[in-house]
Amino acid sequence: MRIGTMLSDVLRSIFSPPATREYPSVRKDAPERLRGKLTWDRSKCTGCSLCAKECPANAIEMILIDRASKRFVMRYHMDACTFCAQCVQNCRFNCIEMSNKEWELAALNKEAFTVHYGSDEDVAKILETFGKNQAEGSLEAKPNA
Ligand code: SF4
Ligand code: SF4
Repeated sequence: MRIGTMLSDVLRSIFSPPATREYPSVRKDAPERLRGKLTWDRSKCTGCSLCAKECPANAIEMILIDRASKRFVMRYHMDACTFCAQCVQNCRFNCIEMSNKEWELAALNKEAFTVHYGSDEDVAKILETFGKNQAEGSLEAKPNA
């Protein structure tokens, strides 16, 4: 490279704004259709479990506490999820969406990747009954639970 060309490149770089972004202090909005963490609208859910049955990664467990009173807990294994959106497509009641706001999903501990959705009371009951990560009892809570 000629010295003149090199100098002009150096000068251009010095007076240009940086190409990199100062993340995380400078953030851009994520694209509208970005597939981030699942969100679940409990009020619309019927507990049919189609989302769990059709998930190719077994990333969803729909735990039934009491169908009559619509008490369900969704356990979402974020570390297994491939973000394929199959569950979003399959849910006939539009309960599941993928947030484009929650996409910074790194964590320092494994527990953070198991997410429970449901009322505080129901989630507490499920954690007490099954523990945090066990896949057992994914449809029916234990009797007398
Ligand atoms: S498919 Fe929809 S309605 Fe059925 S259990 Fe899943 S979230 Fe609920
Ligand atoms: S996005 Fe795909 S892998 Fe993730 S929970 Fe839904 S169906 Fe399963």
